[in-house]
Amino acid sequence: MLRTFYFDNNATTPLLPGVKSGVGAFLEAGFGNPSSIHWAGRKPKQALRESRQKLAHFLKVHPLEIIFMSGASEANNTLLQGLIRMSQTESFQSLHGKNKIISSNMEHPSIMKTLEFYSSRGDIQWVKINFDLKGGWDKKKYQNELDSQTLLVTCMSANNETGFLPPINEMASLAREKNILFHSDMTQSLGKTEINLNSIDYISFSGHKFYSLKGVGGLWVRKGAPYENLIWGGSQERYRRSGTENILAIHSLGLAIDELNNHSGKESYLLELRDYFEAEVSTKIDNLVITHKEQNRLPNTSHLVIEGVDGESLLMALDLKGFAVSTGAACSSGSSEPSPVLINLGMSLMEAQSSLRVSFGLYNNKSEVTGFVDELVQIVNRLRKLKK
Ligand code: PMP
Repeated sequence: MLRTFYFDNNATTPLLPGVKSGVGAFLEAGFGNPSSIHWAGRKPKQALRESRQKLAHFLKVHPLEIIFMSGASEANNTLLQGLIRMSQTESFQSLHGKNKIISSNMEHPSIMKTLEFYSSRGDIQWVKINFDLKGGWDKKKYQNELDSQTLLVTCMSANNETGFLPPINEMASLAREKNILFHSDMTQSLGKTEINLNSIDYISFSGHKFYSLKGVGGLWVRKGAPYENLIWGGSQERYRRSGTENILAIHSLGLAIDELNNHSGKESYLLELRDYFEAEVSTKIDNLVITHKEQNRLPNTSHLVIEGVDGESLLMALDLKGFAVSTGAACSSGSSEPSPVLINLGMSLMEAQSSLRVSFGLYNNKSEVTGFVDELVQIVNRLRKLKK
């Protein structure tokens, strides 16, 4: 049987052992509806409370500032659409009439497509602040655009494709000086690197990026920051997101946080794997560029541009050998279009199509990486020869 190796942890993560066993045990005992007031509701209700507390402790925020949802796409949509609607309603005086939203040029599609939709309808003025392959950004333009018309700034804390960490705390404090709301999609940061919520009003998160089940994520909304629901209905999440909770996934998120708290050296572990991988490929493969290598980056992410190699062919050849990697964002895989984020950052079409993203997780070890590099070198050589 083919041995498999998973190096695509920015797409999703496997469950950590404590999460797997805890979820199994909870399947039967926690089947009830947490809103039920009889015995079957007690266990899931307690699990809901515990997971909220664990996450709040992890983020160093108040538990009631957390709203559980289905994931980060829903969180991003809920926040943006809610604020846009509020800005169009006279009763929300502090937001009424503000119609400018500032974002970076490398956000996830759940931000980009939402802003594209509302700006194409003329509901908002969408201003993009460009980041580039050297980590440069247009700070002057950003400062000029922060004005009385600005409803929100949204900038991710870590890019899912290259791992680049934009200066969100600097950006957030500039926004705060002008009393402008600041949101950060922190989907790729949680569980990988320290975060700092100074001057930030909202963050989005997603459990399956840090070792929980899929179908749970949500928003942290700083106390007092404006917020409006996307989904109306029952009293779940204090009426801020109706619908029966995905209690199994929420429970798994709490278990994942327990496990992460036990991995105190996780950042340096990931960094060691990544640095070893990058040192090896840089010496064994010529004409290879590591994107954002000199910039602040996530400790687990390596984005390579390998000259003369088609990323899709490379991915398929590696898959046949049991290695799971990515050519770009999982959300856009399946289409042969180059990643719009890489193009926005300043890559040529050719460079974007010669990309490979390798993202490590706490399950990976050095000997797997050694085996992966050996295979990668052979396949790259073969593909380059075929092209000649
Ligand atoms: N934002 C970022 C930065 C992401 O990487 C992802 C997942 N690819 C999402 C949002 C969407 O998360 P979810 O799968 O929970 O909807």
